[in-house]
Order: sequence, then C-alpha cells, then structure tokens
Amino acid sequence: MEDLYREYILEHYKNPSNYGTLQNPDISYTDSNPLCGDEIRIDINLNDNKVKDVRFQGKGCALSKASASMLTEMIDGMSLEEMKGITKEDIIDVLGITLGPVRIKCALLGLKVLKAGAYGLKGWPGEED
Ligand code: ZN
Repeated sequence: MEDLYREYILEHYKNPSNYGTLQNPDISYTDSNPLCGDEIRIDINLNDNKVKDVRFQGKGCALSKASASMLTEMIDGMSLEEMKGITKEDIIDVLGITLGPVRIKCALLGLKVLKAGAYGLKGWPGEED
C-alpha cells in the first residue's frame, strides 16, 4: 500500500461504514470513474427530507471506497438541503491528504454519485460551475 494513505483511510477501506444496499431506496445511484476503474453505488432512504438510512457499495481503489465510507458517515441525518452544500473541499478535509488531479477523481466519486442521485448533478464536484 502507498505511504500516502493514512491509517484511517485504510481502516475505512477494510471496514467501511454503512456498507451494503437498501431495499426500495428513495435514492439509488451508481457511477464509475473510468480513469481508475472505481465504481460506487449509494442508496438512501429519506424521512421528512432527511437521510434516515444510507448504504454504499463500491469496487476499486482504497481511496474511492474510503471516501465514500466517510461520506456516508457525514450525511447520516442530514437534510437534502444540507447535503447539497457538501463541497469538494469538505471531502478533501476529512481525508486529510493532498491529492493530485487523478486521485482527486477517486476521492470525489462518492460525492459525485450522491449529487447525481439526489439532485441530478452529473458533473464532477467542483467542476459543475
Ligand atoms: Zn480510484
């Protein structure tokens, strides 16, 4: 494993939070990162416009899975409006590592899937504006 991955990133990769799928989710979306071969699916159940249950599944590199795992912890209980405000910088902050232009796509795949599933925003976070 590469030194650039901090311990807790590997922990999230090996023991991801909220891993799996939901039956009849209100939101379900899958997307991939062709640069790396990562694929992430996020399922969400809402209650009163807030995240009641969230699950994700993924294959690919440690970074894409770890960041999706951290993202599911971040959005648990959030309203749709709050979730929309999550930025590229928030993801970089929780990961706590410096990312080049290729790795950043891995790190942001979970957020891309979330925003596409919840709001129909298809661009990579940070590039939609
Ligand atoms: Zn990747």
